[in-house]
Amino acid sequence: MTFEPTLDFARQLDAQDPLREFRQQFLIPPGPDGQGECLYFCGNSLGLQPRTARAAVERQFDNWQNLAVEGHFKGETPWMQFHERLQGASARIVGAKPVEVVVMNNLTTNLHLLLITFYQPTATRYKVLMEGGAFPSDQYALETQVQQRGFAPDEAIVELVPRTGEHTLRTEDILAKIEELGDSLCTVIMGGLNYYTGQVYDMGAITAAGHAVGARVGFDLAHAAGNVELHLHDWDVDFACWCSYKYLNSSPGGVSGAFVHERFADQPELLRLAGWWGYDEKERFQMKKGFKPMRGAAGWQLSNGAVLTMAVHEAALQVHEAAGGMPALRRKSELLTGYLEFLITRLGLGREQLEIITPADPAQRGCQLSLLVHRNGRDLFEHLMAVGVIGDWREPNVIRLAPVPLYNTFEDVYRVGEVLAEWASRQ
Ligand SMILES: *Cc1c(COP(=O)(O)O)cnc(C)c1O
Repeated sequence: MTFEPTLDFARQLDAQDPLREFRQQFLIPPGPDGQGECLYFCGNSLGLQPRTARAAVERQFDNWQNLAVEGHFKGETPWMQFHERLQGASARIVGAKPVEVVVMNNLTTNLHLLLITFYQPTATRYKVLMEGGAFPSDQYALETQVQQRGFAPDEAIVELVPRTGEHTLRTEDILAKIEELGDSLCTVIMGGLNYYTGQVYDMGAITAAGHAVGARVGFDLAHAAGNVELHLHDWDVDFACWCSYKYLNSSPGGVSGAFVHERFADQPELLRLAGWWGYDEKERFQMKKGFKPMRGAAGWQLSNGAVLTMAVHEAALQVHEAAGGMPALRRKSELLTGYLEFLITRLGLGREQLEIITPADPAQRGCQLSLLVHRNGRDLFEHLMAVGVIGDWREPNVIRLAPVPLYNTFEDVYRVGEVLAEWASRQ
């Protein structure tokens, strides 16, 4: 599409947008003076509140009030099986079969639980491959996992870094490193979409390369789930986890998801950290000795589920499904982010001042663009916030802006472009 830098053009795209009604289903925070609406470009960090979320929680408050302990078995949404209500939609978001998915805990917790199973080092095969500068929680998780097994992080963790002068990883370099590590490589664990650069990794190719050397391969999909199309089952990924509060709009610190490939569904002998909720449902309340897991990902559950946050998650997933799921969201997302890229490129700022470090190829990115601002970056970020553009700042000098197809409009993008142009004219 040929973009035009005018308000009329942006409004025309909004008028043609099949998802335009969905913005009404979200609560948009006010602008800086408490008036109107802000320009929210931070769904990569915390998605907006679906209008239906509050009532979904209130229904569970009512069940708690009226049914109390009986709510586990009675009412329209018995709590015993509440997590199953989220399984179908979650599976569709990550491209999995329902048996491969479970919603439980929080993201870093799930990463640890899955690493217990899928990082099983031996004296010779103990290395972990991850992207350099991964999200801090993932770095700390890996560092301490490796220590738990008696290895030194410096020795066991191998980090992939971009070539000199480049900001993102080349797939060929990732695959070559996997091959080079060969028999010493135990587990590959990467973000599906890097939180800092916005780069999507070729998860299918990475998984195939990892399997070819006998390693396990998993992805942290915090920035990928609900943002890009995923095919975890077909890619043959071993394990994955994601949070629900970024592109899945399911409340701060809301429940997280976990994926374990169907190949492992009937392997009760796989080592894991267990709890009663992962115990075979049919016999769970016989309270017997000896752990006997549920089939599939459900066998990694520890505790009875957090019903209030799962209720929010269910409401949010219903909005995603009503919008037509990932294929429909992606169609709009590519245009929306393409438009933002077009407007930023037009600013005429030199590379020595501002660079977009997110890949230009739509297949290698989601909705987020990361702007590396070499000069006056903090000033630009504060200016954006002061006029009501909510993005986020990542040290040392990156501003992330994420137009989200469910609730952002082309007019939002146009208006951000105007703010950036006004700032650029003063540089
Ligand atoms: C957002 C994010 C987290 C946050 O972890 P929590 O356990 O939900 O606090 C972890 N890893 C990545 C890659 C993230 O993007």
